[in-house]
Amino acid sequence: MKKIALLPGDGIGPEITAAAVRVLDAVGKFEYESYLIGGAAIDGAGNPFPDATLQGCLAADSVLLGAVGGPKWDTLPGNQRPEVGLLALRGALELYSNLRPAKLYPALRDACPLKYDGEFDILIVRELTGGIYFGDRGRTPSPTGDTKDDSAYDTERYSVREVERIARVAFEAAQKRSGRVISVDKANVLESSRLWREVIRTVAKEYPSVECTDMLVDNAAMQLIRNPGQFDVMVTSNMFGDILSDEASQLTGSIGMLPSASLGATKRGLYEPIHGSAPDIAGQGIANPIATILSAAMMLRYSFDMEAEAAAIEAAVDATLNAGLRTGDIAAPGQAKLGTVAITDEILRRIG
Ligand code: NAD
Repeated sequence: MKKIALLPGDGIGPEITAAAVRVLDAVGKFEYESYLIGGAAIDGAGNPFPDATLQGCLAADSVLLGAVGGPKWDTLPGNQRPEVGLLALRGALELYSNLRPAKLYPALRDACPLKYDGEFDILIVRELTGGIYFGDRGRTPSPTGDTKDDSAYDTERYSVREVERIARVAFEAAQKRSGRVISVDKANVLESSRLWREVIRTVAKEYPSVECTDMLVDNAAMQLIRNPGQFDVMVTSNMFGDILSDEASQLTGSIGMLPSASLGATKRGLYEPIHGSAPDIAGQGIANPIATILSAAMMLRYSFDMEAEAAAIEAAVDATLNAGLRTGDIAAPGQAKLGTVAITDEILRRIG
């Protein structure tokens, strides 16, 4: 039986992970073990990422996280804050790819800020442990002593190995979707992007069923606004992915709906909603659990190869929204607002 490490975390985290567990239990049999992370771990164990949590995650087949953080811990020094737990977890599991779907639900079309009649369902695959966020950086004082000539630098560096492995994540994801990859770079200017493009094209030959094209990042930012429906899987570097995935998520207009997966070399991944711990509504039973439920569906698809069960959960979420059922964050004015448990009940009723 697959073992899932549950990290509910802070704020609405415990409410939304409990909802996701109910849905997982409706489609399969799993073993769960809960561990502390973030503020809850600071309070309970004096450390945002206790060793017991690390060992529990390493022993599990996959990890489901709620969210971390909250005003209670905002005044702690940077290296003791709840977010440190999340970064430590990503590092310890060596998660080098981040998958973020941005899907426009026809039932939530009014939340999309674009004047756009079509549909879109994009998967952004972002390289997570390389590039400029991890490259050499520093400050160089002016040799003349004139502080106007002081400078700073950051380095974008990618190895063939790093690009190959993220490319494979993207091509394999595309095989489970509509079979199209757009690789985003800045190869007209950056040498690191020229290497990126060469490696992507080489790896593409291993996946003849997937159609692969390149796009410059400035054009990609524009095309996302102009016609998001043209994208299926988009693969890109750490910094470009950081920016484009936030842009794409805003196009859906509903962050309470968006899941994510972080994957490494093994099948074990970290699955979490993209939103935070929403301390303003914590404990009220009104949080939208759908992003976490869809994160659990991604776990089934990418870690456990349970495609049919993942699709059943996604279809049940679609059907629930199509029936006009909403939590407060996605309800239109005048529409009834269901709580966390009630919307989960509705999703469960629709799982075939
Ligand atoms: P947030 O995403 O928690 O909340 C932003 C707004 O969206 C709030 O009004 C909140 O009520 C609402 N919201 C978010 N998720 C919702 C849901 N599932 N259902 C209904 N409404 C929802 O962002 P924030 O307020 O900037 O941050 C709050 C805390 O979360 C901070 O401590 C921050 O550091 C942390 N945070 C954690 C993560 C993470 O764990 N991955 C990510 C972002 C922020």
